[in-house]
Amino acid sequence: MWGRGQGSADPGPLPHKKLSMLARVKSGALRGVDAYIVEVEVDLAPGLPYFTTVGLPEAAVKEAKDRVRAALKNSGYKFPGNRVTINLAPADVRKEGTGFDLPVAAGLLAAQGILPPESMEKYLLFGELSLDGRLKATRGVLSMALTTRDAGLSLIVPKENAQEAGVVQGLELYAVETLAQVVDFLAGREELTPTPTLAPEDAGWDPVDDVDYQEVRGQEPVKRAMLLAAAGGHNVLMVGPPGAGKTMVARRLPSILPPLSFEEAVETSRIYSIMGRLPPGQPLLRQRPFRSPHHTISDAGLIGGGTTPRPGEVSLAHHGVLFLDELPEFKRTTLEVLRQPLEEGLVTISRATSSLTYPARFMLIAAMNPCPCGFFGDPRKPCTCTPNQINSYRSRISGPLLDRIDIQIQVPAVPFEHLARTEDSRDGSRAMREQVLEARTRQEQRFSRTKIFANAHMSSRHLKEYCALTEDTRRLLGAAMEKLALSARAYSRILKIARTIADLEGQPNLSPAHVAEAIQYRTLDRKFSP
Ligand SMILES: [Zn+2]
Repeated sequence: MWGRGQGSADPGPLPHKKLSMLARVKSGALRGVDAYIVEVEVDLAPGLPYFTTVGLPEAAVKEAKDRVRAALKNSGYKFPGNRVTINLAPADVRKEGTGFDLPVAAGLLAAQGILPPESMEKYLLFGELSLDGRLKATRGVLSMALTTRDAGLSLIVPKENAQEAGVVQGLELYAVETLAQVVDFLAGREELTPTPTLAPEDAGWDPVDDVDYQEVRGQEPVKRAMLLAAAGGHNVLMVGPPGAGKTMVARRLPSILPPLSFEEAVETSRIYSIMGRLPPGQPLLRQRPFRSPHHTISDAGLIGGGTTPRPGEVSLAHHGVLFLDELPEFKRTTLEVLRQPLEEGLVTISRATSSLTYPARFMLIAAMNPCPCGFFGDPRKPCTCTPNQINSYRSRISGPLLDRIDIQIQVPAVPFEHLARTEDSRDGSRAMREQVLEARTRQEQRFSRTKIFANAHMSSRHLKEYCALTEDTRRLLGAAMEKLALSARAYSRILKIARTIADLEGQPNLSPAHVAEAIQYRTLDRKFSP
């Protein structure tokens, strides 16, 4: 009795013909990176043709009317000539995106009696319609799939999003190509086979092998610093003249980081999914992201925001690396807003009516010249800056930001004869990554009963517990701090790095040698003397 196109010429006797018809379809919307369920209520009432959508729809949702009208007609169904009211509940949250097309179309059909209302109870419908009735790839499907599963529902999405939704374990998923297919399925005229979900072991991980630390020559101390950073999750600031290879060093960091776990891959891929930026045919990211925004980037571009809020670079770098070259050139206010993600691993974007949260846990690698002209301390060329200029340049980076950066390292210009040597450096990324993995395993065991997983995240309580110093070591550190005029804030940084150095060696206790090496990574804390 649920005939396709049944109502196009003659509406015929409807099963529960009333003056007003109401249908409900479950769909979803995004709030930040999370999806929540939205009930799409479609009410048809007698009267002159009229169409309104209530429940705080944004422009793309309002435009659903025109796409749905064309898609229904071109699929052989009737667009009701009544007063149509669409309510998106809960009504007090703004809804954006094109995913409401499919549920609105289904609701209009149900309200006209073309689809049995109860047929949709166990499904969440999400997807954009093209004018000819085909379903198009829609942003945010991965988050929608997680919410659908958690609500105990089954999901109907465009076929182009099948792989993306299919990474969610335990989800009953139907990937469809056209509106007519959805209608036939819900009306019980067509069987659909649930789309199989991807097994985590098949998700895969691609080692970063297009770049390798073997190609970085004559910079062994810098490579050592990057090894420590990767092993302990420490943020790094590189200070050196132009052309010293700071960018080259930073770009290779993902090649020694631990593989992206399945859970991490899902978390990061959700962000790319809501941006519509997952690579085609690849439902999950297979490498840790490396993001390197230019210093002219806006606050919204870096942190997230905009009229229709979008995640920023800090979130695109989630579980990966954020590289900020020429750090002092970033606006000071921009750098200030980095503090929250660096401390909490997330970023909150405040809006007039509400606030959104996006994940943003990344390793920060920053680089800067030693002075405005770039050649302070460089034997190749004399520096032309005054001490005042140098101090004001360096003070553009605030103390609180520096506080979040454990490792500060000088990257000197490499003399040409070093670079010209043909042999590659002995330590390549593969060997370095193995050391990183061993050190990370030791940290996992140590922190198994805590909420942290890497040395960089230790609190003062953890420092007391895991970085106890012998009398000898304490004396050495005290003397060094005095001699080098290190600030008090340097103290806990040094302990954290020493802990990572000891972990790389598999040593349970911190030795004077560990601490002595760690002290070298506080370049900027030392008194600056031209
Ligand atoms: Zn200079």
